[in-house]
Amino acid sequence: MRSVTTTPAPDAAVDRRRRVPRTDAVLADPRLVDALARLDRATVKAAVVRAQERARAGEVAPEEVAAVAAASLPVRPSSLQPVLNATGVVLHTNLGRAALADAAVRAMADAAGAVDVEFDLGTGSRARRGRGTLAALREAVPEAEDALVVGNGAAALVLAATALAAGREMVISRGEMVEIGDGFRLPALLESTGARLAEVGTTNRTTVADYRKAVGERTGFVLKVHPSNFRVVGFTGEATTRDLAAADLGVPLVVDTGSGLLADDPVLPGEPSVRRALADGADLVTSSGDKLLGGPQAGLVLGRADLVERLRRHPLARAFRVDKTTLAALEATLRAPTTPTTQALHADPERLRARAEALAAGLRAAGVSAEAVPSDGAVGGGGAPGLPLPGWAVAVDEAWAQPLRVGERPVVARVAGGRTLLDLRCVPPADDTAVEAAVLAVARAPRPPGSG
Ligand SMILES: *Cc1c(COP(=O)(O)O)cnc(C)c1O
Repeated sequence: MRSVTTTPAPDAAVDRRRRVPRTDAVLADPRLVDALARLDRATVKAAVVRAQERARAGEVAPEEVAAVAAASLPVRPSSLQPVLNATGVVLHTNLGRAALADAAVRAMADAAGAVDVEFDLGTGSRARRGRGTLAALREAVPEAEDALVVGNGAAALVLAATALAAGREMVISRGEMVEIGDGFRLPALLESTGARLAEVGTTNRTTVADYRKAVGERTGFVLKVHPSNFRVVGFTGEATTRDLAAADLGVPLVVDTGSGLLADDPVLPGEPSVRRALADGADLVTSSGDKLLGGPQAGLVLGRADLVERLRRHPLARAFRVDKTTLAALEATLRAPTTPTTQALHADPERLRARAEALAAGLRAAGVSAEAVPSDGAVGGGGAPGLPLPGWAVAVDEAWAQPLRVGERPVVARVAGGRTLLDLRCVPPADDTAVEAAVLAVARAPRPPGSG
């Protein structure tokens, strides 16, 4: 905030300072009493002190101190801002990957207080932690004998490497030595456990014979990683999960499917599912909870009971365990009729077109230039690279992308071809009106000079 540059008469300044209300008087104002009900006292008090300082400096009137202090405080206790995802990217890593189903949100709230996560109400004794979530996983994946939930997909891999191959080797194809994003490389992650990677084959071709040559006394397990965020095309070849299982190499076959897709989905032809990997003969499958499964951040381990048990009994499992709200959200996700992720992936293009056209027409009726245009969405989250999801977007002024992000209800859009594209795939239909209101607010806001 710019300060006032004129110097008032000394008497006026003294008078103004005298009229600045005292801290306890401001804190008693109903607007700050409200704030104290949702925020800690130090934060609220600091806002009051700042407003008082501005009043002493003549930047705000003394009678406005309470209003200014209240307005400067966040409306929510967390700085995380809910946004409308109008990018068309279903699992946007920077926007928190999967949006949770309503049922999962409710389950998290239900589990927030005291809850029977590790307690049998009938007998009054200790019970297996998260047993309902594990039962739901087993029902969703009948091919698995047992299941385990950890903090994320990376933790699931680290736990498998530590429990099954510490001081020994993991055999992995050179074509599957991937970076999962933000500089995290799977080989480095795996070797941080003290297990060694025995690389086989080449970037584009690896055969069963390559694996067979590498497997020996020192082998803890064979690891297959789904290279989820890129595609190798041309002269390529891999030993599939089924090939490796059939080869009977005498060591466990661990498959990292990545996405957490539980069953094959025709919309995602190249995406391996947990059920398929187990049916093809994997002994253990690891994956994420907050990608295509559509749940909270978690890592899933499913497969042979003896191997799951070895992971569960390893001391590191305790360091990777998830909290009660994650267990609740995961179970509710598995039992929910659908998830926002599934709905966004399977959104009917004609329905998206109708929504985009209605939104564009509404904007035009309000005097705003807007047009419905075809727009491809994407799976995102490092999944199904190169797979377009045909849909529709509303195209508006390119310069509006930034103000849309910083509005009262932030809208994150995509800029392409000199336009801002509002892709409705990941916007709940009930929020179309919120997108429209956000665009209207930006269109009607005074433009800064020189902004076209
Ligand atoms: C995403 C991914 C991971 C890491 O899972 P997080 O849940 O992000 O820790 C590991 N492997 C593959 C193949 C992945 O796609």
